[in-house]
Amino acid sequence: MKNTTNKIVLIGAGAVGTSFLYSAINQGLAERYGIIDINEVNSRGQKLDLEDARPALPRDFEVESGNYELVSDADLIIITAGRPQKPGETRLNMVADNARIMKQIALQVKSHGFKGVTIIASNPVDIMTTVYQKITGFEPKKVISSSCTLDTLRLKLELSKIFNVAPTEFGVFVMGEHGDSSVSTFAHGTLKGIPLSKFFAKHSITQDQINEIHERVWKKAYEIIDCKHATFYGIGASLTDISMSILRDEKRVFATGSLLNGEYDMYGTYAGIPCVIGKEGIVETYEFPLSEQELAKFKKSVNTLKENTLLALKAIK
Ligand code: NAD
Repeated sequence: MKNTTNKIVLIGAGAVGTSFLYSAINQGLAERYGIIDINEVNSRGQKLDLEDARPALPRDFEVESGNYELVSDADLIIITAGRPQKPGETRLNMVADNARIMKQIALQVKSHGFKGVTIIASNPVDIMTTVYQKITGFEPKKVISSSCTLDTLRLKLELSKIFNVAPTEFGVFVMGEHGDSSVSTFAHGTLKGIPLSKFFAKHSITQDQINEIHERVWKKAYEIIDCKHATFYGIGASLTDISMSILRDEKRVFATGSLLNGEYDMYGTYAGIPCVIGKEGIVETYEFPLSEQELAKFKKSVNTLKENTLLALKAIK
């Protein structure tokens, strides 16, 4: 009989992975957690530290560290293994190194009979997700890139500071690459159904200032990395949010990466677009309306991802 409790396995117990786990246990996301890291001493230490939180939290959980046997009965895998982005380095600079790591992980996950949903956050995230999906051969809907989910949170936060409205009220996305070529969807974005353009006009916000909002969003990771060498709390919370929508079958919409299959006439690579997320993974994707300029930028961003995906696949041949 299948165990009815939820089990999440983390692969890569560094700053991002453990921020996710800490956020997840505090929100009572699952009953069982597993931790795998190439550094087994580290994963054991993380297990021992996290289990100390059990008596202090309202919802109890089990946590184990170990090898890939942990994934065979898991519902959800979160992959955050890789090396972190160095100051001044773009996410695309990490392609070859992280593609080799992702290949090893994908082969292990597949050979241990995993049947659930995978979310990947390792950078460059859409490219690493394409590599993982190709190596495992898992159904694309069950393989999700965290893609532009964090960027979308950052955009909503920027807008909330400008308009003094809760970030949850904005109907906007960041799309394309989780990285420098991303697109913020201002043209048809809304605040609770009302076009954002009306609020920009009301607050006398110029096109240059709108462009600066997007710039602050995509440059925020660099700003954080310059200050503290890595970013992890925002992505940890974002991964928890996506996981919640999967484990509770909430079918909420996130700018996660989906393997494009004709959306905006683009194919064959993962990129951030609005996706409905439920227990089977990506239930549906949407084409958010874009201005001509935004569409051109989105297609350019996807083409950048495609070119770099080819480099990643070459590196692991
Ligand atoms: P980190 O160095 O703190 O942690 C990485 C962990 O991966 C380490 O514990 C390391 O031992 C482990 N690891 C390396 N190779 C492994 C393998 N083959 N199998 C299992 N574990 C392995 O780095 P971090 O700051 O946690 O960042 C992790 C990744 O997340 C990076 O690629 C980073 O760029 C990315 N990231 C993504 C987002 C996002 O929005 N998607 C945001 C921040 C960081």
